[in-house]
Amino acid sequence: MSIPRPATAGLVIAVDGTSGSGKSSTCRGVASRLGLAYLDTGAMFRAVTWWMLEHGVDVHDAAAVAARAHEAVVVSGTDPAGPTITVGGQDVSAPIRLVEVNAAVSPVSTVPVVRSLLLDLQRSIISHALTGPGIVVEGRDIGSVVWPQAPVKVYLSADPAARAARRAAEEGAADVAATEESLRARDRIDSGRTTAPLTLADGAVAIDSTSATLDQVIQQVVDLVDRARAAPEDGRG
Ligand code: C5P
Repeated sequence: MSIPRPATAGLVIAVDGTSGSGKSSTCRGVASRLGLAYLDTGAMFRAVTWWMLEHGVDVHDAAAVAARAHEAVVVSGTDPAGPTITVGGQDVSAPIRLVEVNAAVSPVSTVPVVRSLLLDLQRSIISHALTGPGIVVEGRDIGSVVWPQAPVKVYLSADPAARAARRAAEEGAADVAATEESLRARDRIDSGRTTAPLTLADGAVAIDSTSATLDQVIQQVVDLVDRARAAPEDGRG
């Protein structure tokens, strides 16, 4: 006799999209509602970037970044109520949000060695989560590269002015125009890079959060999960 598994068993929800489109709040909300783990892959790239800056590595020198990437050992906690991130054992949840990291993270993220180290780590965290209820993963290449077999894929976007206003409010930044330029600069690099660029993955559903509330966006993702669960060939993971 087979033991019934919970409805969310083994589920991976891949959420990609532009900077400041509301991915983190949406993903944490969805994960909390569905009892899933949560992985912020952007925080992982930020942690590596913070480590490079801290160790005086020129973040615009791809070879220099690649040469030291394996030294930046990142550990991510996956509780949506309190995600954690350390590098070299140090809690970097606050400093990875500094403007210096905002400015350096996209160049560091173009370096293939950095991507492949974090890809291995991301896949191992997802595989581990699949032994439990599953995980909501946010980033730029989750549905296209990290876990293309995810049964639910979302591409979240919003109007740049709305994204900048939200992000500036979160960060307490007075200069919304500068925040918008910083977001646009990251989008340009993230979309234009050769390795794993930001793109609408095959099978991803695009959601524009410009004029939606957080609860509405969370509900749209939960509806997609319900639909995926109801689908006949419901491929898990
Ligand atoms: O999501 P967040 O804005 O914190 O991501 C910071 C940066 O990390 C992105 O602008 C991008 O350069 C990089 N990133 C990436 N691939 C991911 C997640 C983030 O290249 N899966």
